[in-house]
Amino acid sequence: MPRKILEKVPEDLLQADLERYRKMALELGATDAKIITTDVIVIDERVRAKCMYPKCRWYGTSANCPPNSMGLDLTRKIVEKFRYAVFIKLEVPSSEVAGKEAKDKGLSRQSQLKIREIVSKIESRAFFDGYHLALGLGEGPCKNAFCPDRECQALIPGQPCRHPLKASSSMEGFGMDAFIMAARVGWDMYPIGASISPSEVPFGNKLGLVLIH
Ligand code: SF4
Repeated sequence: MPRKILEKVPEDLLQADLERYRKMALELGATDAKIITTDVIVIDERVRAKCMYPKCRWYGTSANCPPNSMGLDLTRKIVEKFRYAVFIKLEVPSSEVAGKEAKDKGLSRQSQLKIREIVSKIESRAFFDGYHLALGLGEGPCKNAFCPDRECQALIPGQPCRHPLKASSSMEGFGMDAFIMAARVGWDMYPIGASISPSEVPFGNKLGLVLIH
């Protein structure tokens, strides 16, 4: 049942809600989830540079990827308005993210959908709990996850996203350095790419973030 919106949420209620969202992430299949203060969030222009140079194949292909996604200055201002977020990790087998086969066959698509599912369910729960400005971010291009064989509808003037409640932007699309943030909270992260063999890394991580209040 939706809870009424309060201008000032009592701290004990806020902390109980954050813990409930953290546990919800685990129940939905996350490997780990942490309540973080927003000073843990890192926004860095070099993340945007990595989208542009060398140009990512997804650059400009959807409303949620650069250059169409949120600019970094606006992202900073938005993040400054929040005090707490739930940071979510989904560990995946390295064979799904490392190596040429994983890249060519798009094996990471399912885990991109999964982390977004966890994020969107928590974002929705928080919204109906009265955190009406809660904002969720997933990992990877929504074009790959939801519209791999179709043009992005949201780029057509006057047309909405086909999956507005599920297809969040990615943390990196907002200019966040999710890798450093993971390191800050004690999660092991490895650089992974097509030239790495799955046997060289123990696992891959998909990361998501829900800014709550
Ligand atoms: S989910 Fe599809 S329609 Fe929506 S922004 Fe992403 S690519 Fe565009």
